[in-house]
Amino acid sequence: MIIAVLSGKGGTGKTTVSTGLAAVIKPSQYIDCDVEEPNGAIFLKPLMCDPIPVKVGIPAVDKALCNGCGDCAKVCQFNAIAVVKGNVLIFPEICHHCGACYIACKQGVLYVDECIIGVIEKNERNTFVQGKLNIGEPVAVPVIKQLKKHQRTDIPVILDCSPGASCTVVQSISDADYCILVTEPTPFGLHDLEIAVGLAKKLRKPLGIVINKACKDNSLITDFCNREGIEVLMEIPYSPEIAQTYSRGDLPILADKRLTESFQSMFSRIKKRVKR
Ligand code: SF4
Ligand code: SF4
Repeated sequence: MIIAVLSGKGGTGKTTVSTGLAAVIKPSQYIDCDVEEPNGAIFLKPLMCDPIPVKVGIPAVDKALCNGCGDCAKVCQFNAIAVVKGNVLIFPEICHHCGACYIACKQGVLYVDECIIGVIEKNERNTFVQGKLNIGEPVAVPVIKQLKKHQRTDIPVILDCSPGASCTVVQSISDADYCILVTEPTPFGLHDLEIAVGLAKKLRKPLGIVINKACKDNSLITDFCNREGIEVLMEIPYSPEIAQTYSRGDLPILADKRLTESFQSMFSRIKKRVKR
């Protein structure tokens, strides 16, 4: 079973929820798909093996054989190629590795140049995997695709996704059986939750909500959930002890023992929903 944990924006408690789940579901595999800022390792403290580079293909041109026709530039939807006075200029930073230019070049003078855009790191037992995109690299999807190759099928998998609703998130949750959306009971939290719910619904994923930093009145979120027919799976209380534990780099379940029980009961409910 693959459970994706996502949120409309960063800092809502996505990593609190995904690492908490990974800590109580034994055995399970945690995959940090937040490749621009992976931080699950801080809390789960895995012993990593050597990093595996993530390579992508960037087009390069054999200038001696190029006739300067410009077909490669015309087909590139990302403006990563320009042909100026018959000279081909390639901008690797904005290339999305789609491969269209190789097909468009009738002369067949474009070839693939490999470049490393990030790494995959995992522990020996393959229960912890994280992707890291190199700073300045604009396209994270190839790192997510590589991460997915290390996904296990014999134990539950927790995907800690990037915040937002970008193509990175779409790629991460494409094969998820269930989505947990983490939010806070504030107007900003609700706004971003609506975006995340829209994405999960569009992809026809079963979903539930976790309210982080829950207070006495969470009606802003619970009213929305009632209207949309979405289950509130769990509430994590607003608590200085949890915040302090988190800021020390420890799992919040250590600050409040009742959280372990709540995570276990949330997992049981999700299993039932997925089965149904
Ligand atoms: S691979 Fe795709 S994005 Fe990259 S230069 Fe070619 S057409 Fe443009
Ligand atoms: S399509 Fe091929 S031949 Fe034409 S400009 Fe591009 S690289 Fe040169």
